[in-house]
Amino acid sequence: MIKKEKSITELNASISRVDEICRSNNLGFTDIRRQVFEIIIKNNKPIKAYEILDEIRNITNKPSHPPTVYRAIDFLIENGFVHKLNSINSFVGCFHPKTHEECYFLICKKCNLYQECCDDSLKDRISKTAVHNKFVISNTTLEIEGHCLDCSQK
Ligand SMILES: [Zn+2]
Ligand SMILES: [Zn+2]
Repeated sequence: MIKKEKSITELNASISRVDEICRSNNLGFTDIRRQVFEIIIKNNKPIKAYEILDEIRNITNKPSHPPTVYRAIDFLIENGFVHKLNSINSFVGCFHPKTHEECYFLICKKCNLYQECCDDSLKDRISKTAVHNKFVISNTTLEIEGHCLDCSQK
């Protein structure tokens, strides 16, 4: 896995994509939701909840109200705009929201560099397994730990 920074164009594209999805689905993309989304998507690494709170405090110059911020994060996750990486208890922005439901992440254990990948055949296997086990999936996030190219050469 090779380090590549997201360009401003990519960032703006994903922000307007979320804006668009919210508008056509009658979801309120409120200021706080937008601020939280921008903080998460602009961060090149997975970001933790307390770091989001810090950033909000910096932007608004007011003490952040944690429940409001957590609700905004929940909203973003529920709608597939943000993913939660449970293994490192952090959040990452989705660069192709609503184009897929299942995705998996390659996460560098050393530097936290991550990459989001989708794979239809994996999705297929998972839903077959669920059906076979009479299980209803609400969310699938697979996390694969390892080392990025830089860290594996050190
Ligand atoms: Zn995604
Ligand atoms: Zn690394």
